[in-house]
Amino acid sequence: MNKTVIITGGSRGIGAATSRVLAKQGYNVCINFINNEAAASQLCDEIKQDGGRAMICKADVSIEADVESLFEAANAEFGTVTHLVNNVGILFEKTDFTQITAERFMKVMNINVLSAFLCSKAFVRQKNKDGAIVNVSSAASRTGSPFEYVDYASSKGAVDSLTKGLSIELAAKNIRVNCVRPGFIETDIHADGGEPDRVKRLSSQIPLQRGGKPEEVANAIAWLLSDEASYATGSFVDIAGGR
Ligand code: NAP
Repeated sequence: MNKTVIITGGSRGIGAATSRVLAKQGYNVCINFINNEAAASQLCDEIKQDGGRAMICKADVSIEADVESLFEAANAEFGTVTHLVNNVGILFEKTDFTQITAERFMKVMNINVLSAFLCSKAFVRQKNKDGAIVNVSSAASRTGSPFEYVDYASSKGAVDSLTKGLSIELAAKNIRVNCVRPGFIETDIHADGGEPDRVKRLSSQIPLQRGGKPEEVANAIAWLLSDEASYATGSFVDIAGGR
């Protein structure tokens, strides 16, 4: 079967690792990004040099019109989109919740949750049966991220609920919807929170005594998308070193 996957925020961090793993497994990979076209292009070239098939597509996946364009572009290049990874997620500077503005809260919700909702709707319009979606949540949905970013944690709680609801609504169509919940993973996102070395600082608090690598999350995503996970839907896989 021809497999085509859209990976939102597929150009850096966990998304980029997922793009690499899925390309190696023979998927046509549509790498979505928003600003950093150089990173997306470099990754796309790397995949093609390795014999894979990839394209890049700039789209703000919190905007419905952009999501429509993203799915149209992937369809035009590769045919029906058969798999989806709702990976995009952002956070802002660590602070206690009284300092978080309503504007910031809504931006986090729109980019982290609305995006997954919009992309899942667009996906089902194209692939009405026999597909798979993986949502990227966070261990923060369980911890609540107090004094740091409760807006981010709340958005990930919503991603968990969306996963559960969609998994049951789409089960009869054999569209499986699962979720990974990473812990501290070495990516650029921690610099956005104001602490680039966050993973290193917290390593001793993680039962496995180290941060995770993006590839370790990507491998779980790839398994959940694959036919090997054919009886898994509405599942949550914690990739958090035991945290
Ligand atoms: P990252 O390294 O900061 O990469 C973010 C990616 O998202 C980039 O490709 C970025 O594109 C893209 N992006 C951001 N806003 C977008 C938008 N509105 N539309 C389209 N693309 C957008 O992030 P990461 O650490 O890999 O995180 C990936 C996912 O894992 C997120 O959902 C995050 O919450 C979750 N997670 C991460 C960790 C961790 O420790 N890293 C832990 C738990 C959960 P540009 O390159 O164009 O900016």
